Amino acid sequence: MVKKIGVLTSGGDSPGMNAAIRAVVRSAQSYGITVYGIYDGYRGLVENRMFEMGRYSVSETLGKGGTILGSARLPEFKQKEVREKAVENLKAEGIEALVVIGGDGSYRGALELTRMGINCIGLPGTIDNDIASTEFTIGFITALNTIVDAVDKLRDTSSSHKRCSVVEVMGNRCGDLAIWAGICTGAEIVVTPQTGFDEDDVINQLNYFHDVRKKNHAIVIISEKMTDVEAFAKKISKYTGFDGRATVLGHVQRGGGPSPFDRVLASRLADRAVQLLNDNIGGQCVGMIDNKVVNIPFEEALDKPRSSRKELYSLFERLV
Ligand code: ADP
Repeated sequence: MVKKIGVLTSGGDSPGMNAAIRAVVRSAQSYGITVYGIYDGYRGLVENRMFEMGRYSVSETLGKGGTILGSARLPEFKQKEVREKAVENLKAEGIEALVVIGGDGSYRGALELTRMGINCIGLPGTIDNDIASTEFTIGFITALNTIVDAVDKLRDTSSSHKRCSVVEVMGNRCGDLAIWAGICTGAEIVVTPQTGFDEDDVINQLNYFHDVRKKNHAIVIISEKMTDVEAFAKKISKYTGFDGRATVLGHVQRGGGPSPFDRVLASRLADRAVQLLNDNIGGQCVGMIDNKVVNIPFEEALDKPRSSRKELYSLFERLV
C-alpha cells in the first residue's frame, strides 16, 4: 500500500496545472494517501524543498492560472548523480511515488526516476498540445480561448484600416494552437511547421485575397519560431495592398484561469494518476483519447508520432 506520494509541476506552466494538483491532493485523501507538494519541478526535488499538502492547501486554487507549486527547468536532471540526490531526498521523507505534471521533457525525467525505483505517473501540462499520448493537453483549450479573443479584437480594428494582421502564437514546433485558432477565427492564412513557410507564396495569396476576392482585411496566424513577424509585416505593406501589422501574443497565452474544459480534463487525468499509484503502477502517462481517460507507458508515449492533423488543415483550406 502506497502511503505517501509527491506532486510537482515542471517545464512551461499552463492553466489547469492547479486543478490537477488539487485533484491529486483530494483524490489521494480518498485513498488515505498523504501528498507532498514539491516546489519548482525537479529543482525543488533535488534541493529538498517539499511540504505536506492538506485538503485546505489547495482551497480556492481550481480556477487560478499558473501553478501554486512553481515550475522550473533543470537541465542537470539528465545526469544520474543529480537524480540520485532526488531519490535520496524522496526516500528520506518516505515518499514512494510521484505525479509529474509537464511536457515531454518532464516525462523523460519521470521515466528515468521510475527506472531508479520511484513510481512516476505523468500528466500532460502544456498549452502547446504537443504530446502524442493525449488528444488534449491541460491548458491547450484555455490558451486557444485567449488567442481567439485577441484575434477577434484584431480583426475588428484591422477591417477598419485595410490591414493585414500577422499574429504569432505559441506552440513549440507544434501547429495545433495556430490551426485551431485559424479555424476558430476564420483567418485567411495559417503558417505552422506542418505547412512550412514560403514567404512569396503567402504574399501571392494575400494579393489574391486583396485584388481578386476584394477583402479589405486579412489575418495571418503564424506559429512561433517560423519567421520574424515584424519584418514579414513590413514586406506585406511593401508588396501587397494591405498595411501589414505584426502582433506577438507572447506569454499572455500561458495565463488566465483554466477553461471549464481544462478544469474537468485536469481533474479526470489527475484522479487516474492517483488510482494508478495506489495500485503500485508507475512509468505511465495519462491522457484522454476519444473522451476516455487512458494510460500508456512513457516509452510508448515518447516514441509515438504526433497526428499530422490532416483533416483540420484540409478543413481550414475548404473554409477560407
Ligand atoms: P517540458 O516538460 O514542458 O517538455 P522541458 O523539455 O524543459 O519541458 O523539460 C522539463 C525538465 O524535465 C527539464 O528541465 C529537466 O529537468 C527534465 N528533463 C528533460 N529531459 C530529460 C531527460 N532526458 N532526462 C531527465 N530529465 C529530463
